[in-house]
Amino acid sequence: MLDIHTHITEYNHNEITEVIKRAKNVGVKIIIAASTTINSCFQSIKLSNTYNIIYSGIGLHPMDLKTPINETILKTLENFTKKSNKIVTFSEIGLDFLDDMPDRKIQYDAFREQIRLSIQLNLPIIFHSRNADLETLRILKEEQAYKVGGAMHYFQSDINIANKVIDLGFNISIAKPILNNIELQKTVKNIPLNKIVLETDSAPQPFKKNREKWTEPRHLYDIAEKLSSLYDCDINELQKITSKNSYDMLFKIPI
Ligand SMILES: [Zn+2]
Repeated sequence: MLDIHTHITEYNHNEITEVIKRAKNVGVKIIIAASTTINSCFQSIKLSNTYNIIYSGIGLHPMDLKTPINETILKTLENFTKKSNKIVTFSEIGLDFLDDMPDRKIQYDAFREQIRLSIQLNLPIIFHSRNADLETLRILKEEQAYKVGGAMHYFQSDINIANKVIDLGFNISIAKPILNNIELQKTVKNIPLNKIVLETDSAPQPFKKNREKWTEPRHLYDIAEKLSSLYDCDINELQKITSKNSYDMLFKIPI
């Protein structure tokens, strides 16, 4: 299985060998380390150079945009791809319209510019959208992001949004909310399985006192198991289909 979206860079780097071991034990073969800032791009690439299982996403998260995007930042992002052959996606980019988020003009500009760069570099986009689905999809469409495709990360929206995402040439990425969110379970049942990819969005969760409860890539198995019951599909078959979807999206080659 492929965990197409994690923030594994944020874990204490001493822990990563163990996190990877636990993931491998449940059948995770590839972990994508998404980035949120230029500094985390460096961290992600460093981890991908250290661990075979880790590949990188680069990009600036809408929540972390301190300044408008500019030529220097875009050049820096482009240069990362010249130095590493393990960068497989632009992630995490998008729009976030929660209160107290960065100025919307800054978000729109950064999103558009990063989509343009991803098309130039032929990298798929794994995008973030919070309280901003229609606007996020409008920008992706206007910028012709279907040329590279990708996935809507941490999907929790309704079937109309899912259909629009698929029409745009993107996949739907399912994370842990599927385990408990009944509405989401009903929606996902109606999404074709050949459009589903899996992720954990793993990041340290110090607010959970019990370290065992922190989300890790190993939880991909739980997501696959839940989906296999929702789709009434054998778990091995479900893993095979969703892994192929992820491979095709990220590497553009079949398994
Ligand atoms: Zn994320």
